Amino acid sequence: MVLPLWLCGLILLSSAAIVAQPSPRSVLGFTPADDKTVADWTQIVDYFSKLDKGSDKVAVREIGKTTLGKPLIVAFISSPSNIKNLEKYRQISAKLADPRTIKDEAELEGLIKNGKTIVSIACSIHSTEIVGSQMSMNLAYELASATDAETKEILDNTILLLFPSSNPDGVDIVANWYRKTLGTKSEGTSPPELYHHYAGHDNNRDWFMLNLKETQLITRLFWHDWFPQIVYDVHQQGSNGSRFFIPPFYDPPNPNISPLLLRQVGLIGHKVAADLQAAGFQGVLTNALYDTWWHGGFRTAPYFHNSIGILSEAASARLMTPSTVTNEQLARSSTRGMRNATESSTNFPDPWPAGEWRPRDIMSMELISARSILEMAAKFRVEYLRNFYELGRTNIESGSKSGPQAYIIPAGQARDEAVAKLIGSLIDQGVEVYRLDRELHAILATPIVRRTNPVAEKLGSYRRLASLNSPAMQEVPLGSYIIFLAQPQRTNVLTLFEPQIYPNRLTGQGEAERPYDVAGWTLPLQMGVEAPVVMAIKEPAKERKLTLLKDANEVRADLALTLKKGEESPIKNPLKQPVRVGIYKGSTSNMDEGWTRYIFDTFNVPYSSVRDADMRQGGLSSKYDALILTSQAATQIVNGNTAGTLPQEYTGGITEAGVKNLKEFVNNGGMLICFDNACDLAIKEFNLPLKNTLEGVRSSEFYCPGSIVALDVDNKHPIASMLPASVPAYFINSSAFSAAPDANVRVIARYANDNVLLSGWLLGEDKLRGQIALAEVGVGKGRIVLFGFRPQHRGQAWATLPFIWNALSSAVSNTSED
Ligand SMILES: [Zn+2]
Repeated sequence: MVLPLWLCGLILLSSAAIVAQPSPRSVLGFTPADDKTVADWTQIVDYFSKLDKGSDKVAVREIGKTTLGKPLIVAFISSPSNIKNLEKYRQISAKLADPRTIKDEAELEGLIKNGKTIVSIACSIHSTEIVGSQMSMNLAYELASATDAETKEILDNTILLLFPSSNPDGVDIVANWYRKTLGTKSEGTSPPELYHHYAGHDNNRDWFMLNLKETQLITRLFWHDWFPQIVYDVHQQGSNGSRFFIPPFYDPPNPNISPLLLRQVGLIGHKVAADLQAAGFQGVLTNALYDTWWHGGFRTAPYFHNSIGILSEAASARLMTPSTVTNEQLARSSTRGMRNATESSTNFPDPWPAGEWRPRDIMSMELISARSILEMAAKFRVEYLRNFYELGRTNIESGSKSGPQAYIIPAGQARDEAVAKLIGSLIDQGVEVYRLDRELHAILATPIVRRTNPVAEKLGSYRRLASLNSPAMQEVPLGSYIIFLAQPQRTNVLTLFEPQIYPNRLTGQGEAERPYDVAGWTLPLQMGVEAPVVMAIKEPAKERKLTLLKDANEVRADLALTLKKGEESPIKNPLKQPVRVGIYKGSTSNMDEGWTRYIFDTFNVPYSSVRDADMRQGGLSSKYDALILTSQAATQIVNGNTAGTLPQEYTGGITEAGVKNLKEFVNNGGMLICFDNACDLAIKEFNLPLKNTLEGVRSSEFYCPGSIVALDVDNKHPIASMLPASVPAYFINSSAFSAAPDANVRVIARYANDNVLLSGWLLGEDKLRGQIALAEVGVGKGRIVLFGFRPQHRGQAWATLPFIWNALSSAVSNTSED
């Protein structure tokens, strides 16, 4: 066909515009999710910056640096005119998030009419779930290049905040490992190091505590700036079960999540499931395994900000290498809500028939899922914006009604750093915290956790009971902090401050049904900060004098703590004298080890990581005063990764030689500190006169998965110095000890004799009552300190950190002391 010259020119111009909008293949040299290819973070950032330059529908921004200093980027994707007016739409979303900023019905209707649904999609927070990060480039390209009516509707009505990864450091850890092992026997295995420098997999448990830089940056972007109405977190699960999980979720729901939100989550999930089915994909599962009970995940935190959190879990391949799944493997795969992956049921109507599973299958399902969610967000824009506003409004109204009015953090608590951290985390996630500049008079109460009757327990119900300790008005001193419930984030405040009462859920065989994550997390309890409930306040609002806090430094200034400047942690090293500390870091990745490093770095306590080779080599006494074995099974410490499973330098543990050197270290006067599971190693190898009384006990008799329990503390012991007589401790399928009556064991803390459970789930309390929780045993010239619980769990359990600092402070003076 012969075209007039001017038209040829136009076509050339427009095709030039298309070329400027680069495809992933044109930049990477391969199509994302091709077998055995992986784009690392540098390539992903490079692709997005080229797409930014080439498309007026994409604006890429760096929101800060990751833990290891990489750029954390977000791509805004929308219509060209929306992209030009991002600030306008951000402000609309922020106004809808706080109904108090909207003056009347007319303004509200205008905001809803003009606003866009803000959707965030985040990929590969868990870095071995690597396909999402690769998929993100295709998703961005499709949205930027497609011209069909449906894509246009999405772009016109939504603003997508796309995170190619919420953990860029891990993308590189996995990409480097994958490339290094490609073509070897270890191809497709997970790297032997944590894929987040401190948290590993637990980076998806940090979304209320905000310990990690990535969490802090994204939380700020979400709950201070953009207030997404829908947050979609893209994950992968194991290889041998369902091909794809999408909500509705399994039980139990968190009682503070609005039923409307749960329904909206389910509606989107079913839309995704239906679209996958229509596209011919099999093996899609809903209503199983994953629940909404726990707080602190990427998609669980949004529920407490009035937003919809969606999770998808695609079956994994072997990183970017295809895998083959057999029918036998599918038949053996069973979870809560799915008998096995070969049997059809209403929530799993079309089992996948086994066979080869490729990264491309994962990507295709994720792309359909992302597309479905965006279509919903576009078509029902008005409903999402209105519901979001209504949830905030309802929270403010319910918070003003009778019942709990606020939580108080009274002035004059000894735990200044914990108070500053707690309030800083609240402010960073958008919770309003005020300082009292004049005293108040209030009725305070302490909630008491108590089980309902056994019949109700069997039904899996729960009830909250509050008891008024003192019905009289108490003075709350000025300088205290107050968190009112009449705020848009009321349910977030409740979910962080109330004790959790996990329903007693048992399997048909009478064993405990494992919750998806922890059962209890009450933040003030974990941090050892007093935070009573306010049931009533005497002074009317106009007589109160309050200051709304802007950041943690205001609290730090109030408490005369060093102010935070830049990235450095301002916390002063709590050790009374210099101590040479070694933290064991084995060949297998261990999150408890990572979190321990996080806490030591945050408190500016110097330490060295002690590797397997160091342990085997010996001479430990000349290098360290104290060695810490974080929670890890004894066999893992001694044997490490099995030979042959990974390249040789990543296999093998401390071996018998290391055990011998540890003995020599303690006998020579060193202090060995063991957390939870690692106590087994000390008890067995050192023949300590202690026994873990929970070893081998069935979950029908005892079960305590991630809960807060009460300790009775002997604070005359130097390791418990300055601590109160009762301390909350974190227990996660942890340990409890008994000692022979005449044994040379100094008990520092026991699990309480009564009302052991403070928050979470404890089945078989009698098995824990009065057992040893923390003890010290003299061995040769040295000592072994055994923590049955997790004294720094996930960097959250600040209540029990002083035990660690006290133990270390006494590590160099033990010979004179004894
Ligand atoms: Zn995951």
